[in-house]
Amino acid sequence: MRAVSGTVYLVGGGPGDPGLLTLRGAALMRAAEVVLYDRLAPRASLRLAPAGARLIDVGKAPGAAALTQEQINQLLIAEALAGHVVVRLKGGDPYVFGRGWEEGAACAEAGVPWQVVPGVSSALAAPAAAGIPITLRGVARSFAVVTARSGEEFAASDGPDYHSLAGIDTVVFLMARERLAEVAASLVLAGRDAATPAAVVERGTQPGQRVVVGTLRTIARDADSAGIEAPAVLVVGPTAALASPSAAHVSELAGMRILVTRPPYAAAPLAAEIRSRGGEAIEAPLIRIEYADVDLGSLRSHSWQWIVFTSLHGVRGFWRAVDRHGWDARALAGMRIAAIGPKTAGTLRSLGLKADLIAPEHRATSLIKVLASEISPGERVLFPCGTLAREETALGLRRAGAVVEELVVYRTSPVAPSGAALRRIARGIDAVLLHSPSAVRSLIENDVPIGDAVIACIGPTTADEATRLGLRPTVVPTVYSDAGLLDALESHLQSTHGAMA
Ligand code: SAH
Repeated sequence: MRAVSGTVYLVGGGPGDPGLLTLRGAALMRAAEVVLYDRLAPRASLRLAPAGARLIDVGKAPGAAALTQEQINQLLIAEALAGHVVVRLKGGDPYVFGRGWEEGAACAEAGVPWQVVPGVSSALAAPAAAGIPITLRGVARSFAVVTARSGEEFAASDGPDYHSLAGIDTVVFLMARERLAEVAASLVLAGRDAATPAAVVERGTQPGQRVVVGTLRTIARDADSAGIEAPAVLVVGPTAALASPSAAHVSELAGMRILVTRPPYAAAPLAAEIRSRGGEAIEAPLIRIEYADVDLGSLRSHSWQWIVFTSLHGVRGFWRAVDRHGWDARALAGMRIAAIGPKTAGTLRSLGLKADLIAPEHRATSLIKVLASEISPGERVLFPCGTLAREETALGLRRAGAVVEELVVYRTSPVAPSGAALRRIARGIDAVLLHSPSAVRSLIENDVPIGDAVIACIGPTTADEATRLGLRPTVVPTVYSDAGLLDALESHLQSTHGAMA
């Protein structure tokens, strides 16, 4: 849909999982010039706003000064009258205990056009994410969504009418965290069996979601001892007993902003993997690979027993040189081929070349180890390599008695992030992914403002360089691949969130 200037859009942001924002909500966020949001509005959705948009926190964080409802209404109206596309981003659905109608009515009264975009309410999403069916054939045929709060701010000044709730199979209470004991006792007083199953779902659909299951008699104590905090919903009824914490897989990466520093060709699949886990990939290549013009004279003037490839670029750069000389695969006739890992071997295969030897691990030491037992002293090894990090392999092979010729086929140089990338980074980064020591150096040289983001390195060599330069890498996978790196980051985040209930 097209966003219209001077209009206020009341957008339901969903319960927190960025995947649960509606398509229309996402489109409006991308078009927003001004966004008014509060505490429960999903952070990941805020990040969809364009770099120039103004994000205004009107939140009611406990203790902090917040705008009154009247001030929020006036601000919405003023921004719309100034001709902006205004998004009022709310948690869940704007009309479920969200003051959405009041804001729309205020706009209408001021002659400001407005629209509501429904959202996925936590009242439905939190139970579902905890595996609780809110209705179930033969078991639960009705449900109600109730605020546990009383007071004039909410419709019921004396709190919910517990007697009218007694006949409803499933009752979901919002804003219930501080009133669990009171709500449970009132339901029992109104005639509900104290043994009725009850569950509390904290941070439903979000990383760190927790679920506690008990009965009306025990639930307040159970939640206290588990240390459950707001936001949380209370679900009362027979199906609450069906809760299972693993019902909906919530990736720890959901809503995370992750800086991808690889060059574009390699960043694309990594970014796709991040997005498929609900995260946001911010691409800012920190290094550039340039293939060098190579003199292949020595290829003809000597005979080589081995050719060793330690990276994709080694293969590509060498192949480019061979091609430029008007040669083809026959240039390698008679040589045995070694590759540092299955990926490099795969690149060779795509060129019609089969590696005779593949190191089990993508590491120089692993390659040297397997090669050393194959090479006879005096054998000649051709090593197409880059300008960086070639010493270890060459040195190791020389120690094993080989005569090594390094052929520099590509150069790695640092690149500064673009202005647009820097603006996205300045909005906050949760984790940085580093794939080479040169990327680490570029990060430092370019003074990229990563704050206290989690630093994840592809392998020990990269992590060592990070430590040497004063960073604190906390994630290094045991499997050196994109998926391995993201898995390791997920487990790290999970351990810092504390044990799941
Ligand atoms: N309009 C929102 C509700 C606003 S009232 C909606 O439709 O979801 C705020 C209450 O919503 C919180 O006190 C809590 O009870 C509930 N809530 C919001 N997000 C939640 C979440 N991710 N998990 C559990 N409860 C949530």
